Amino acid sequence: MEWWVSQPKIELHAHLNGSIRDSTLLELARVLGEKGVIDFAGVEHVIKKNGRSLPECFKLFDLIHVLTTDHATVTRITKEVVEDFAAENVVYLELRTTPKKNESIGMSKRTYMDAVIKGLKAVDTVDVAFTPSQTSPENSVTLISDACKTTKKKIYVRLLLSIDRRETTSAAMETVQLALEMRDLGVVGIDLSGNPVVGEWETYLPALKFTKEQGLHITLHCGEVPNRKEIQAMLDFLPQRIGHACCLEDEEWEKLKSSKIPVEVCLTSNIMTQTIASLDVHHFVDLYSVKHPLVLCTDDAGVFSTSLSHEYSVAASSFGLGKLEMFQLARGAIDFVFADDSVKKDLREIFDSAKRKLG
Ligand code: 5GP
Repeated sequence: MEWWVSQPKIELHAHLNGSIRDSTLLELARVLGEKGVIDFAGVEHVIKKNGRSLPECFKLFDLIHVLTTDHATVTRITKEVVEDFAAENVVYLELRTTPKKNESIGMSKRTYMDAVIKGLKAVDTVDVAFTPSQTSPENSVTLISDACKTTKKKIYVRLLLSIDRRETTSAAMETVQLALEMRDLGVVGIDLSGNPVVGEWETYLPALKFTKEQGLHITLHCGEVPNRKEIQAMLDFLPQRIGHACCLEDEEWEKLKSSKIPVEVCLTSNIMTQTIASLDVHHFVDLYSVKHPLVLCTDDAGVFSTSLSHEYSVAASSFGLGKLEMFQLARGAIDFVFADDSVKKDLREIFDSAKRKLG
């Protein structure tokens, strides 16, 4: 495990509220329990439970959102999540989150995202670079004192705003508008996620088309359930990446492979939610063998008690891949990041320097 932790890695599919430490969730639940907002004893086992079906995960997300949706908590979890990824040598993190409104506490989608940005600025264990490189140096945020600069590690962070499948067309459009507004603050694209049995593709389509027209990147949760019509529509839409791709039929596999759309593969998530029966029948094997672009990701490191290093270790042992092959798989993800070329160049240098040490 240590070797996987020591290697540079790229995380492209991580949901903020799914990546919270268990200890933080329990602490937040205890505080809300003491205030009488929730019944702590009733939710403690839900947080501690290991192994949840997909519907159970969405119930847990609703609980997590009750625990986390105030500005200070959003800031705290963002800081902790970035620190946790940096601690295992993730050098580029694309963190996605659904901007939320909560009028009773004066939260708008914008102030929710401002709290996320505040969390990025609050990180102090590592140098966080999240503004686009084209902004002038005085606008980019250096989060550590000059004196410590040389001793601290650096992580690139970019943000994706998620459209929840429960949202209306106008709510989805509002999220895209916000993403455009926040381009200079490291927002690089839009994700479509949320309970896959809820909502219709046509509802989000206008907002996704607008996203494309505006030149923002798009990744879609695709094929978590066998909804053939939707899977085909999503592949025809040609997003820059898709997540999961678990329930595709032959015709859709062909479409995916010929389109070369990179797939964000979340092994532990797929197994724990029983979207895929076991690792020996996981589509990673087929996609990897035909050199289809793919990247290993955590999805929800907190909810599924995993880490990106663990995902690499699981893939290596389950699919018989050596360290060099795994290293190349990790490096290959540079091509699919939504950040600009100067970041990609820097990432290539980071990986090449690590490769020299590999020998
Ligand atoms: P948030 O966007 O609140 O930061 O992160 C949690 C949300 O991400 C969940 O409420 C859900 O909408 C989405 N999400 C997390 N994991 C999954 C997943 O495995 N599949 C889908 N479709 N959505 C997910």
